[in-house]
Amino acid sequence: MNKPERFRPPSVDTVLRSTDGTLAITRHGRAAATEAIRQVLGRLRESGSPPAASAEHIARMALDRLEALERPSQRPVINLTGTVLHTNLGRALLAEEAIQAVVTAMRAPTNLEYEIEAGKRGERDAHVRELIRELTGAEDAVLVNNNASAVLLVLNTFAKDREAIVSRGELIEIGGAFRMPDIMTRAGAILREVGTTNRTHLKDYAEAIGPQTGLLMKVHTSNYVVQGFTTEVEPSELSVLARKHELPFVDDLGSGTLIDLARWGLRHEKTVQDALEGGADLVTFSGDKLLGGPQAGIVAGRKDLVAKLAKNPLKRALRLDKLRLAALEATLRLYRNPDRLAERLPTLRLFTRKPAELSALAERLLPAVAEALGSGWVVEIAECSSQIGSGALPLETLPSAALALKPAGKASGAAVESLAAAFRALPLPVIGRIAQGALVFDLRCLEDEAAFAAQLPLLKPEAGDGLA
Ligand SMILES: *Cc1c(COP(=O)(O)O)cnc(C)c1O
Repeated sequence: MNKPERFRPPSVDTVLRSTDGTLAITRHGRAAATEAIRQVLGRLRESGSPPAASAEHIARMALDRLEALERPSQRPVINLTGTVLHTNLGRALLAEEAIQAVVTAMRAPTNLEYEIEAGKRGERDAHVRELIRELTGAEDAVLVNNNASAVLLVLNTFAKDREAIVSRGELIEIGGAFRMPDIMTRAGAILREVGTTNRTHLKDYAEAIGPQTGLLMKVHTSNYVVQGFTTEVEPSELSVLARKHELPFVDDLGSGTLIDLARWGLRHEKTVQDALEGGADLVTFSGDKLLGGPQAGIVAGRKDLVAKLAKNPLKRALRLDKLRLAALEATLRLYRNPDRLAERLPTLRLFTRKPAELSALAERLLPAVAEALGSGWVVEIAECSSQIGSGALPLETLPSAALALKPAGKASGAAVESLAAAFRALPLPVIGRIAQGALVFDLRCLEDEAAFAAQLPLLKPEAGDGLA
């Protein structure tokens, strides 16, 4: 048997003195460059290949390695999934006003918990309290990390070691392991389920109320609807019942919108104002769903109850930082002028893009995409439906336009998968979805057309028949 030729590497010093070696030292420092070269040499030795790799070649590999390490782990992507508020892609995009507010708050000390005029300690939630009161009619509000935190805080404050009464039709699980029963347990509350999956009556709640009851809760059925032979109790009736027993009635809206979306031709979603007028003592909702702001959880409602929430030590653990408070304040301010909201708030702007605008965009992009893919692929314009996402308005679909990319020859699932991977491997990863043997790019969320088109020449697709 022939012994494989021994790997004879250049010395680390020789590699460091090469052009890319020098570049690696300049950009990343001598220690990191040396370490990267050692690692490359180690790998080459293990793989037994090429017996005489040049110093330049090794330096290049080390430099590539160092550059890859420099690339941020979290980076921008192009969301062509058709889901506007995509939880895995970071939900709402912030308005320019909110971005500016965050940048300003990052650069300097702020009066986060300081009353400038009085020269004494202040309260962080005060910066948005007035806005929330003005926009929702709530007496008071408290801000936490996200809506899951808001629900946790409410349950822990009013139902620790007591019962929280919820309809079986509303024991939701939403993505990312938010299960209402689990949150209840962690909050120290005892879940008291009433009614059935499809029907719950007022008397079910009434019969469950006893000395152990801490609160009554209604949960928005995010991500699904219960249809058919169904009954749910009107919040106004629940609120009367709760009041009679001097119990807080909490409405977990989930997405929570501050404005009637019907104004922009979308389905009407119960607003925070509606919920409060309907008798909820406290309403919980997210900052980064329909509201279009940063991740946050907002509890709005009765002043005496909000005061109790603010006193719970958990509030300290769940509080918002100055950056997100700045973003939220700037976002809420935009709601003061609904006339300009659709133009300034990216979420609303994306929801309201017209199908005609999107098909025109598809037509403009089609030739470049077809050319980048070559003859192995067929690119077509297709009608499609975008979704709001994040459990908001689960039935609402927005008519949209897409590019559908299909193999020209025999349909091959593997070819479509690998094309999707090639688009994800671009400098600005493009995320679509696969449907009916095609890679579908819903163009609703594509605002930077030029950035998308500019990187098409970098695409390295396999031929549509799966043969490279
Ligand atoms: C989304 C949602 C939550 C959780 O909100 P996050 O902001 O994601 O923590 C809770 N309840 C309902 C009904 C929801 O839709």
